[in-house]
Amino acid sequence: MAVPAASAQLGARLTGVLELPERLEALIGPMRERASRLVEARVVGGRTVPPPELEEWLAATFGSVDAVREQRIVKVTNPATLESTIFAPLRVRRPIDGPARGADLSAEIAATEGDPFCHPETGTPAEPLGRLRGARVVTGANAALADAHHAVIVFDTHDPLGFDAELVLDVLETGRAWAERARADDPEAANYLLVWNCLWRAGGSIVHGHAQALLGAGRHYEQIDRLRRDVAAYAARHDGDLVEELVAVHRSVGLSIEMADGVTLVANLTPRKERELLLVGSAGMEETDPRFADALARTLVAYRDRIGVRSFNLAVWRPPLGADTTRDAAWDAIPPMVRLVDRGDPFSRPSDIGAMELYGTPIVGSDPYDLTEALR
Ligand SMILES: [Zn+2]
Repeated sequence: MAVPAASAQLGARLTGVLELPERLEALIGPMRERASRLVEARVVGGRTVPPPELEEWLAATFGSVDAVREQRIVKVTNPATLESTIFAPLRVRRPIDGPARGADLSAEIAATEGDPFCHPETGTPAEPLGRLRGARVVTGANAALADAHHAVIVFDTHDPLGFDAELVLDVLETGRAWAERARADDPEAANYLLVWNCLWRAGGSIVHGHAQALLGAGRHYEQIDRLRRDVAAYAARHDGDLVEELVAVHRSVGLSIEMADGVTLVANLTPRKERELLLVGSAGMEETDPRFADALARTLVAYRDRIGVRSFNLAVWRPPLGADTTRDAAWDAIPPMVRLVDRGDPFSRPSDIGAMELYGTPIVGSDPYDLTEALR
């Protein structure tokens, strides 16, 4: 159905993702051209017909009955990667069954003290090459390996939300040192991935603060290998740098924050789930570069303290380690990147990931413009 301009309808709220189509329209010259290659935004209107018996409840739950009667959704797609997100603002307010509003997260975390990671020397297997110690972390082998080399990086603090900038830097540095050590022993293994699942909601099976490092041979891990393929295809088709241009598009529609020279934070226009951030360095930069590492540390602290995120997934993407001249040249255009996503209230009973996220298009309720605003 035809939908009137969002700004006419939304009154005071002129800055949200629902207005993305107008923002894109307003771009001119090369910025517009670039955006047309990397962002499609389509606003869809929908209507519902609530029975009178439901009106009171709808008003209390969703703010007004009209908000439920007439709805507006925006579908954003990146045609170069086919990543896509459905922004459905009303869904954030969906009622959720189950207990736990007001449940005490700190108490829940404290109750697990004494877990295996509180004494990693006896609580985790060692690796054949032994443990690596950072200033505030120590490595162990993941008891259930997911690749030939798979470590847990155990923090010195039990509380997974007790991190600070120093700890984040330590994780990056220790992870990299671990990967280099493993590769020296197994030169084929060059695909390094650092991930961090904070709390059970994000898939963390142990509460104690920890990250994981993986190193494998052959193809890189699926999602980053997909990026490599898309970068190569984009270069062939448009003679352009996909990642650099994607950052530029976010900048041109007001969704970026410059963190340091050559390091940009963007609120992703096609997030996998709520409040996804991408931290993007420059091609050739190491993920341990102080500019990138410090930007990541500040971002994570702000994610926790300013946005209030409690459970998150984080992944550090980078090209394979070392200089293999036979590898796909597209890797050279891929900078270190961090993807960071909010997994929601740790006490919420329904999972945030459903069939749409796994097999359709992710549905997101939060607005990347709110996120950018809160982090500026
Ligand atoms: Zn512990």
